[in-house]
Amino acid sequence: MICDNHPVALNPKLCTGATGRLAGFPGDAHMRVLIAEDDQVLADGLMRSLRNAGCTVDQVGTGSEADAALALHEFDVVILDLGLPKMHGLEVLRKLRARGSSVPVLILTAADSIEQRVKGLDLGADDYMAKPFSLQELEARVRALTRRGLGTASTVIKHGPLTFDVSGRVASIDNQMVDLSAREIRLLEVLLQRAGRLVSKDQLVEHMCSWGEEVSHNAIEVYIHRLRKKIELGPIRIATVRGLGYCLEKIAA
Ligand code: CA
Repeated sequence: MICDNHPVALNPKLCTGATGRLAGFPGDAHMRVLIAEDDQVLADGLMRSLRNAGCTVDQVGTGSEADAALALHEFDVVILDLGLPKMHGLEVLRKLRARGSSVPVLILTAADSIEQRVKGLDLGADDYMAKPFSLQELEARVRALTRRGLGTASTVIKHGPLTFDVSGRVASIDNQMVDLSAREIRLLEVLLQRAGRLVSKDQLVEHMCSWGEEVSHNAIEVYIHRLRKKIELGPIRIATVRGLGYCLEKIAA
């Protein structure tokens, strides 16, 4: 039932949003964003804007769909309208936090509902915007939230000799730039965010694609294979944990 009033979101060709990244929005490309908003015009504008910025975006139009999507999928940021049909946004947020998720949430509220804003922040929202708002400001706040989600205000992630500039989408090893495709960059980013920890193939699939887009486990293996050839030059290894997934490691010299 996800996106049933919005078939575009299920069209695999339109789901990646990976093309046409705007120069003015360098960071957080391929971040996976969920938009829970029942105002379709507003949702379409948000989706277009964030996809142009390189994010992978999914949209739902009811609170119960948002709740189901959040229980099943991993997102990097959630944009949550509070006035949603079927389940109020505050209840969606409460359930999300009750499941222990710390995904950054930006709530959208009507201009006059200060009480709901406060309630939302109390329930664990990370930021809010009152309608109407500028898309530019929303993009800036989403950028800030994704950085916070990475657990760092810095836009550079380091792992041994490997450096990844989240804003510029550039990876380098010992200051030598590594030539990576958009998907390889996304894959590396996900592994780096969880360096030293096991990342399952399902998690990688989740972060690589939007609903409707097919990225199989086999495809993940191919991307991992390519990425290994490019980054396993020094002490960096992408270890295979058989039957479970992968782990980005540093091996002692
Ligand atoms: Ca609404």
